[in-house]
Amino acid sequence: MIPETPTFVTHLECSETGEVYAADEIHNLSRAGKPLLVRYDLAAVAKAVSKADLRQRLPEFWRYRELLPVRDSDNVVRLGELMTPLLPCRTLERALGVTSVLIKDEGRLPTGSFKARGLALAVSMARELGVKRMAMPTNGNAGAALAAYCTRAGIESFVFCPDDTPEVNVRETALAGAHTWTVNGLINDCGRIVADGKEAMDWFDTSTLKEPYRIEGKKTMGLELAEQLDWQLPDVILYPTGGGTGLIGMWKAFAELREMGWLSGPFPKMVAVQAEGCAPIVRAFKAGERHATPWQDAHTIAAGIRVPAALGDFLILDALRDSGGFATAVSDDAITDMQHRIAREEGMLLCPEGAATAAALVQEVSTGRIGREDQVVLFNCATGLKYPMPAVNQHLDISNPVDFSQLRR
Ligand SMILES: *Cc1c(COP(=O)(O)O)cnc(C)c1O
Repeated sequence: MIPETPTFVTHLECSETGEVYAADEIHNLSRAGKPLLVRYDLAAVAKAVSKADLRQRLPEFWRYRELLPVRDSDNVVRLGELMTPLLPCRTLERALGVTSVLIKDEGRLPTGSFKARGLALAVSMARELGVKRMAMPTNGNAGAALAAYCTRAGIESFVFCPDDTPEVNVRETALAGAHTWTVNGLINDCGRIVADGKEAMDWFDTSTLKEPYRIEGKKTMGLELAEQLDWQLPDVILYPTGGGTGLIGMWKAFAELREMGWLSGPFPKMVAVQAEGCAPIVRAFKAGERHATPWQDAHTIAAGIRVPAALGDFLILDALRDSGGFATAVSDDAITDMQHRIAREEGMLLCPEGAATAAALVQEVSTGRIGREDQVVLFNCATGLKYPMPAVNQHLDISNPVDFSQLRR
């Protein structure tokens, strides 16, 4: 059961200028062209709910209902948003000599990726505000989540994917009921189609950070993590950063929890992990800039972080700097090696983006930017089952006797 409680949203706010916007109205970007953030009466939340109350609720992210924007529970669109496990990686800990390495495995969420968190909120709010049609450009997982939640909500959806989007994502999106189009262009070209079609199609632009609620959904990663670690945040969080919704959302979660007086101890260092073939945030971080310049010829096998320009670049960079963290890039070879290594040694099938955080951990322990005494959390954002795996070519021919001594090749 979703607890029937009043919600505590007071207003929305421009993330750059602080200009105030009314809640309960349809919004995209602020007048300054920046993302809008949802603000709550946190003192009232802290009075209305306790940590002990949370423990009585179902292990799903709607348990943080008071810190989410949906007013009427009838508008909540659900596909089973379970809390995701935080799994220790003992073999990696031993190999690196690091005290604690935990992977938050987001592959368990509906549609097999953490995009479900953001889209569950965006679509629930769209239903609450009377939106009938939603559209987005996507490199894959976001489109699949939009399609699934829209279908569930009875909202029509349109999804535009660059030609190099993983085939599995294009197919699952179409199968889940979105009008699905591949496009001979890049993600920004797909974004332009969504922007240009607004008038003709009367659809709501659900692009990353162009509406206020996907961040609120991704915020639940931070809330869950805090609760799972008994309200003491880890030392370091490595997050595979594309548009940065999750990193921005978690940082917002930590700020809100601190304001409620629920956190003890320091905030974690936030580390943005990107691929060497598409690392605009790493470049801007190193240059000391607050905005990133678009990355030319972006390429990486990790499609989820193939984002040449992020609308919330300054929010990502602020969080990295305010937390004492940093940004770092890893090669596609390191990603693939790590995907295979974690599968072999820990029994977990990571997505390439998740493997990128593990590769970054190894790299940054060797540079000393991550200490051996640190408690480190990595994010695996999608199930590894959606991605290409090495072929198996060991075959037994039953017309011959089986040579058991050869089975362990
Ligand atoms: C979208 C996505 C990311 C990047 O997430 P952001 O919060 O947008 O930066 C990483 N990995 C996977 C698998 C994704 O689908």
